[in-house]
Amino acid sequence: MSQTKVLVIEDEESLATLLEYNLEREGFAVSVAGDGEEGLLRVEEETPDIVILDWMLPKVTGIEVCRRLRSRASTKNIPVIMLTARSEEADRIRGLDTGADDYMTKPFSMSELVARIKAVLRRIRPGLTDDISSFGDIEIDRVAHKVRRAKKEIHLGPTEFRLLDHMMQHPGRVFSREQLLNAVWGSDVYVEARTVDVHIGRLRKALSRHGAKNPIRTVRSAGYALELTDESRA
Ligand code: CA
Repeated sequence: MSQTKVLVIEDEESLATLLEYNLEREGFAVSVAGDGEEGLLRVEEETPDIVILDWMLPKVTGIEVCRRLRSRASTKNIPVIMLTARSEEADRIRGLDTGADDYMTKPFSMSELVARIKAVLRRIRPGLTDDISSFGDIEIDRVAHKVRRAKKEIHLGPTEFRLLDHMMQHPGRVFSREQLLNAVWGSDVYVEARTVDVHIGRLRKALSRHGAKNPIRTVRSAGYALELTDESRA
């Protein structure tokens, strides 16, 4: 499957860089435009699969970009997620009226944005993102919201589900508590690091039912990693 192309139209350089970094890490092909005019040109040139569009942009505003995309036959079906500041509540509604598929209010967590991108793409072109992925004998179905281990269904709470979903996107990688907090709870929420331990504990317990081996390794003073040894795979 070819890479999904994301065009980010954002004039705030630090945010654009952060978006580029995180979206590339998720496997997207990312390009960035720094103003509305450039953004419109890039859409024509690159025909992205999805556009992440900031509301406040120099030259041509985000809402005008959205309007123009929707008015052209060649671009009217490209999904758009708008980025708005908290104070722009009324504008946000106008943004959706103009044809944006979704919106995110700044500040937002990257994992939330990634989840929204995938949801929008899934809605628009089913089959483009991985609805189901597996790791060893663990299988996660993101659409049906179900987890199975060795073909047996496992019931998880919403937080445990998101934790597992995140860790399954990077099996073997060691995540610090902070990284898991940012990815699952969002960076703008204050949650104690110990909360992560509690939810990891629940996830572990749920995944280890029916005598299955614990698939989450505690890495001393570092965090957690999803790992299956050959033994636990069997
Ligand atoms: Ca801006």
